Amino acid sequence: MNTTVKQRIGYDLSAKGIVNTVYRGKVGLNSFHEATYEETDAAIKKAAIAFPLYGGMNGNQRAAFLETIAKHIADTGDALIGVTRQETGLPEARLQAERQRTINQLQLFAGLLKDGSWIKAIIDTGFNDPIKPDTRQMQVPLGVAAVFGASNFPYAFSVAGGDTVSALAAGCTVVHKANPAHPVTAEVVAGCILRAAKDTCMPEGVFSLLHGAEHKLGADLVMHPLVKVVGFTGSFKGGMALFDMAMKRSEPIPVFAEMGSVNPVFILPAMLRQQGNSIARKLAASNTLGAGQFCTNPGLFIIVRSEETDRFIKDYVESIGKIAGQPMLSDNICNAYFESVVHLAGTPGVEVLTILTENDNSNIALAHVFKVSGDDFLNNKTLQEEVFGPSSLIVVAENRTQLMAIAEYLTGQLTASVWATQADCLEYSPLFIGLQYKAGRIIYNDVPTGIEVNHSMVHGGPYPATTDSRFTSVGMQAIYRFTRPVCFQDFPNSLLPDALKNENPSDTWRQVNGSMNNKAI
Ligand code: NAP
Repeated sequence: MNTTVKQRIGYDLSAKGIVNTVYRGKVGLNSFHEATYEETDAAIKKAAIAFPLYGGMNGNQRAAFLETIAKHIADTGDALIGVTRQETGLPEARLQAERQRTINQLQLFAGLLKDGSWIKAIIDTGFNDPIKPDTRQMQVPLGVAAVFGASNFPYAFSVAGGDTVSALAAGCTVVHKANPAHPVTAEVVAGCILRAAKDTCMPEGVFSLLHGAEHKLGADLVMHPLVKVVGFTGSFKGGMALFDMAMKRSEPIPVFAEMGSVNPVFILPAMLRQQGNSIARKLAASNTLGAGQFCTNPGLFIIVRSEETDRFIKDYVESIGKIAGQPMLSDNICNAYFESVVHLAGTPGVEVLTILTENDNSNIALAHVFKVSGDDFLNNKTLQEEVFGPSSLIVVAENRTQLMAIAEYLTGQLTASVWATQADCLEYSPLFIGLQYKAGRIIYNDVPTGIEVNHSMVHGGPYPATTDSRFTSVGMQAIYRFTRPVCFQDFPNSLLPDALKNENPSDTWRQVNGSMNNKAI
């Protein structure tokens, strides 16, 4: 299944050898063809037919596919960056870095597949006891994955982003719904994946891209009986709508929705005293980075009332004031940001510390800072809702006890940060333990924006940050959202997958009778 675009817009990329089509029209006019139910059904059926073949391929074959996607994306050069700039308004340096991160991510997953130990082969031979069975376990892919990209990361959380690459690495075939905020970018990247599939002889249907600016396409994907898992990155509203749908299917399926977060930042008293000014500047830069359009954007600061409180707030507001407003990704997002800050400004107990400016339809988001007492914060759960954009709420707790109560009151978060001296660490040690149960990543003396893609990263967290806190959507462990364990009991050696065979032909590291090794049995 190829992409379903019938009308192309904006750019002639064929001249650069990127895709074989000429784009016509104007970016942003939504002139992409909406996938019909029949087209969606056809894409999913092809993915389901391709799945047994693709899922059964060895790690080296799938690694070659991912490496070739990375190569094709790298080859898109300045043309792709230009297209994405026009669609998103994001600056060139940011897009270059995000594309490189996406390429690195593909290569890291390829490395994981070549290594092979990710399949978690576990063997209990029964110690030649005739009563005990021989049991052998490994991870297998779930099937067809429906993947939804987010608007704010046109590469890293989009068509060839973390959800797609971890699903493909696991052995799932993928039907991706393009985010309507960057359809041309989506097309170009999909072209890279489809060409890589051809170059490396992957089965037809291993990947498809569908466009749809209506929610109907998302519903069609999630409700289709051949779809076995959903990867979603986006808003709380969108993620929960899809999750609820999936739970109502006659066969419910896992939906890994990575949603928003306010990413609380605790600035403990001694640290505030010693470095308040520099922390204020760092947080202002982090809060306004990318017009605040990051899921890790720090939107909630918690401090304890002291002589330094006002000084810190003044420093922070001044630092924010020196940063120019930036364009947001779309009119809709900018309007939603403005509505949210107006709502926050009208919330009982909330004080506005910046000048609330009218939305002048320029798409430029100005940063806004709000303040609230610990008491008022503890009485209103809506103050924990994400404002997608450069907004920050400073909570002033009365004392240590109230700060701890606020930490306890927090809902699930992608990140939580603590700025602390050694003395603070001693005085507030229970805070660090409590935050383990609230956030996927806890950051010490640094800002939450910027996620390292590696083996130990956790980008997840308890609800409402995600729909399943046991998994991450960034880093190599993301692969396990798309697999499940299978146990083979008393199987003849010849019928076992290579990784579980006695002779270990794939040289996989395995846990055999409790100890790790890569030896034959
Ligand atoms: P979004 O509006 O939720 O859109 C994401 C995708 O879901 C789009 O394809 C959208 O398409 C679809 N969708 C949304 N609501 C739907 C519904 N009710 N039914 C079916 N499909 C639906 O999110 P976004 O604006 O692209 O991204 C911004 C949000 O993503 C922010 O909240 C940000 O914090 C979050 N985010 C989270 C992470 C993370 O890792 N946790 C990373 C990046 C961004 P249609 O609207 O066309 O149907």
